[in-house]
Amino acid sequence: MGEARVHLERDGDIAVIVIDNPPLNKGSRAVRQGVLAAVQQLQTDATLHGAVLIGAGSTFIAGSDLREFGQPLAEPQLSAVIDALESCSKPVIAALHGAALGGGFELALGCDARVAAPGTVVGLPEVTLGIIPGAGGTQRLPRLVGIPRAIRMICSGERMAAAAALEAGVVDAVAEGDLRTAAVAHARARAGRKRRLRDRAVPAADAASIEAAVQAALKAGKRRPAVQAAIDAVIESARVPFEAALAGERAVFEQLRVSREAFALRHQFFAERDSAKHPSIEGAVPRAVQRVAVIGAGTMGSGIAIACLEAGCDVLLLEQDAAALERGATRIHAHFAGRLQSGKVKAATAAAVEARLQASLDWSRLADADLVIEAVFEDLAVKRQVFERIDAHARPGAVLASNTSYLDLDAIAAATRRPQDVVGLHFFSPANVMKLLEVVRGKTTALDVQATGLHVGRTLGKTAVLTGNAFGFIGNRIYSAYRRQCEFMVEEGAWPEQIDAALQRFGFAMGPFAVADLSGLDIAWRIRQAQAATRDPAARYVRIPDRLCETGRLGRKTGAGYYAYPAGAKAAQVDPAVQPLIEQCRFEKGMVARAFNDSEIVRRAMLAIVNEAALLLADGVAERASDVDVVLVNGYGFPRWEGGPVFWAREQGERALLAGLDELARLSGPGFARGELHYVLTNGASA
Ligand code: NAD
Repeated sequence: MGEARVHLERDGDIAVIVIDNPPLNKGSRAVRQGVLAAVQQLQTDATLHGAVLIGAGSTFIAGSDLREFGQPLAEPQLSAVIDALESCSKPVIAALHGAALGGGFELALGCDARVAAPGTVVGLPEVTLGIIPGAGGTQRLPRLVGIPRAIRMICSGERMAAAAALEAGVVDAVAEGDLRTAAVAHARARAGRKRRLRDRAVPAADAASIEAAVQAALKAGKRRPAVQAAIDAVIESARVPFEAALAGERAVFEQLRVSREAFALRHQFFAERDSAKHPSIEGAVPRAVQRVAVIGAGTMGSGIAIACLEAGCDVLLLEQDAAALERGATRIHAHFAGRLQSGKVKAATAAAVEARLQASLDWSRLADADLVIEAVFEDLAVKRQVFERIDAHARPGAVLASNTSYLDLDAIAAATRRPQDVVGLHFFSPANVMKLLEVVRGKTTALDVQATGLHVGRTLGKTAVLTGNAFGFIGNRIYSAYRRQCEFMVEEGAWPEQIDAALQRFGFAMGPFAVADLSGLDIAWRIRQAQAATRDPAARYVRIPDRLCETGRLGRKTGAGYYAYPAGAKAAQVDPAVQPLIEQCRFEKGMVARAFNDSEIVRRAMLAIVNEAALLLADGVAERASDVDVVLVNGYGFPRWEGGPVFWAREQGERALLAGLDELARLSGPGFARGELHYVLTNGASA
């Protein structure tokens, strides 16, 4: 039976049903049982005239217990609990605070009214987990907000704040004072009168606005099955009697919750949740960060500054020269002006945020910073100089971070007298948009500095992953193995556009060659040149990217790389000049081109990723296999609904994977380092 997670208190003639399942009041079986029992008591106790449903602690019900979703669901199911609430002859008021999400919000929609504390968020995020609401959410929400808005809310998984929810009619009141008192008063005022959403008609909407909402949702949701299913279910609400539509919703929910996609998305959900909780730094207390200094106001520095400003920090932007500082400040200003123009922020808010920005050439002002983030050129000598200068000005205890992509963090830290305070904060471009943050620990980085890095990630709304200090950290190291394997395939007979198309069809946001053109081929070229002296001369080396660079094709910025980018053309174009260059490289190596198909391309690319993941897990660069999935999905356009490469690997089965790696080693040729699979198959977080 388990521990009781719900209890009933009395406030005169009103029952206060308290859900107490810390820390997030997840809607587990015990919670469902408890609410059902309390509603039965409300019905039978003649001295009670109504009830309030409220959460103990900091939240209402922040969602369902996702671990239950992969198994047969235990009775009573949520739909039965809601049915009991609606069938009860006495009104029940949902008192919402913290989060009322997913099943928690569906439960609230089954109540007679909803009263929210300011700061509450409500929403139905099921679609982001590959399922649809399964306890009436797709039927009751349209009755409150109409079909177009219900489609928008459900398909995006939007978390709606209390004020917006009041405006939309999703909640009936926002209680400024004590929530429980307000909800009890509400229940008393309603005594004897039921008001069930199921009895309401769905507000009429014109076909054009429904179609616009449908098309926008399909596009934003990448036409995943759950998005289409949610749209269908919402539209049914206006066409089919309530009970039948409810049964239809439930059947689709049941089918989707055990789909491969739902398992993959749950795996990613848990991987992300675990990535911020690192056993190796448990107990370390992050240092407080309010004032951030960003050094270097280029592409990354400006983006980092924007992210910090939007998270509420004070930002000091420092540069080496006035012109660069001016360019950076202008870029930041243009960002906020754009937000204002598109109506995403109000003028007063944008002005308040920008008021927290100071741009300066005076390095002595570093003394005020709690956190310094360096984002200057990717050059060890330059970075070491900059860190010496930071060391001279920053206050003791300030956290000193580098945004380096590839350089040795220990060598940077050694330029200071306080290497224990130095950490890597590897943002991705654009830094104010991309979710991933790699927190790099050097050999001397103090535990509380590592914890600060993870904490800063959370403050900035990022998904942070802790990584060891090794070339390329987790993400760029895996990505370069993946790209190298794709170059092998080009050498063997596939065309870059064919590989890009296959991997895009698999779900990657962009193919590797389009990405290379976008970031610029010269970065990797410079790295290869720097490594030339130490490279194993016997290892397989693809000359194609060097040749492209030698002919001035550095990617988008020069109008040509793997593709051509003629002025005025929006999309990349296949360039007839590239084929002979590739054929020449094949010829020089005596390679005879063979045909590739999509599935071979995807399989080989995936095996290369999995192999590199095994190598870096063995090296301790990543501690947990699931961290690799978090990095690839949040920083490299890997399709979330595929769960990540580790999820993919575990699905293949060990024998098939071993055979795949044998084949990969054979095809890759000399210099290929083979990883040990058990690291990927077993060294993972909870799945
Ligand atoms: P950038 O060239 O756009 O900007 C660098 C800025 O640093 C310039 O404005 C320059 O004036 C300034 N600068 C150079 N030396 C300085 C010094 N001694 N003191 C003060 N300012 C100085 O470069 P970026 O693309 O923003 O990259 C910055 C860092 O971020 C690099 O380490 C890079 O590897 C890393 N990074 C870049 C990306 C990316 O996609 N661009 C992604 C992740 C990390």
